[in-house]
Amino acid sequence: MKTVANILTRKELSKHDVVRLLSISNPDDQHRLIKKAYFVKETIVGKKVYLRGLIEFSNQCRKNCLYCGIRKDNSNVTRYSMSDDEILQLVEYALRNQLTDIVLQSGELDNERFTRRITSLIRAIKKVAGTDFRITLSLGEQSKDTYQEWFDAGAQRYLLRIETSNEALYKKIHPHDEVHQFRVRLKCLETIQKTGYQTGTGVMIGLPCQTIDNLADDLLFIKHMDIDMVGMGPYLEHVDTPLSLYKEALMPLVDRYNLSLRMIAVLRLLMPYINIASTTALQSIFPMGREQGLKAGANVIMPNLTPVDYRKKYLLYENKSCLDEDDDPCLECLRKRIGLIGEELMFNNHGDSRHFTQRRQVTNNIYI
Ligand code: SAH
Ligand code: SF4
Repeated sequence: MKTVANILTRKELSKHDVVRLLSISNPDDQHRLIKKAYFVKETIVGKKVYLRGLIEFSNQCRKNCLYCGIRKDNSNVTRYSMSDDEILQLVEYALRNQLTDIVLQSGELDNERFTRRITSLIRAIKKVAGTDFRITLSLGEQSKDTYQEWFDAGAQRYLLRIETSNEALYKKIHPHDEVHQFRVRLKCLETIQKTGYQTGTGVMIGLPCQTIDNLADDLLFIKHMDIDMVGMGPYLEHVDTPLSLYKEALMPLVDRYNLSLRMIAVLRLLMPYINIASTTALQSIFPMGREQGLKAGANVIMPNLTPVDYRKKYLLYENKSCLDEDDDPCLECLRKRIGLIGEELMFNNHGDSRHFTQRRQVTNNIYI
């Protein structure tokens, strides 16, 4: 069998190599992999970390994903939807703190009223913050027309995690009905990309019944789809969800954590120019998890701007970190913490995915 050190000298990684790297079980090899991925990240994007202010503006959702704490049938959740004014105040807060990018995230709704509301909200944000302000949407599956309408209104990026690229596993973690279809989600991702968004996806790591082979396929799926930005992190149980009953089928948290770091590292080797977020789910397992994600090759973090009272009602999984902190200390502590690992937070800087910029140039050349 080839050694990890040997695989890390290669320019192209085969599926077999990816499986081997994800299967690493000794700390020295893990260290080697992470060091190489960080070297690639440092060479391509520098010691820089880009910021996206996360606004979880509503927990109303029409879906029932079996893993998610805010699924429609969880009656223990108090539902909320922030007003436009409340959201605009957060945008102003972002601007005051030199954040030039936000992510608007919520449960999934697909009615006319919701569509129009988001369109006018995007326009209102652009009016307050200027046309250059970047808005990432993470609002689930929508129609082609809706994606287009929001893009035309001024949203530049869209994040829709495929959750797993394996259809059989997708079926295991979702109800079997019309609104939870793998094929529809995949089609949506393609539509988002065709519409012109910087396109983001991702998967959960350590799901019950998920294999290393599945995860290797996920990474190759992301590469094959030519994705611009990725947010992936460990699956974490929520007690009020059907999937939490399968605890015995889960790998220990520490293993999910290390596997997530290896997923980030291997993805950085496969796609040196994309933006990779170091997720809060990592930090929920270990306080330094987000920093470790950056050290494994990620280059984006998403400080949560959602007011704490709402955040407590937006628990996708248990143990979400940062619940008791106010916004200011969060940004300030973040600046210090990131400085401690030798990285610099990039205020007043969009940090668009270089992969996207290059992809667009290539596309333009083809069509000119
Ligand atoms: N409703 C939108 C966006 C909000 S959910 C959507 O589903 O696309 C955002 C992400 O949270 C999901 O894509 C999923 O990957 C993640 N998530 C949900 N429940 C989770 C859990 N129990 N553990 C880890 N991540 C979870
Ligand atoms: Fe709703 Fe998204 Fe949670 Fe699924 S993952 S239940 S779509 S919020």
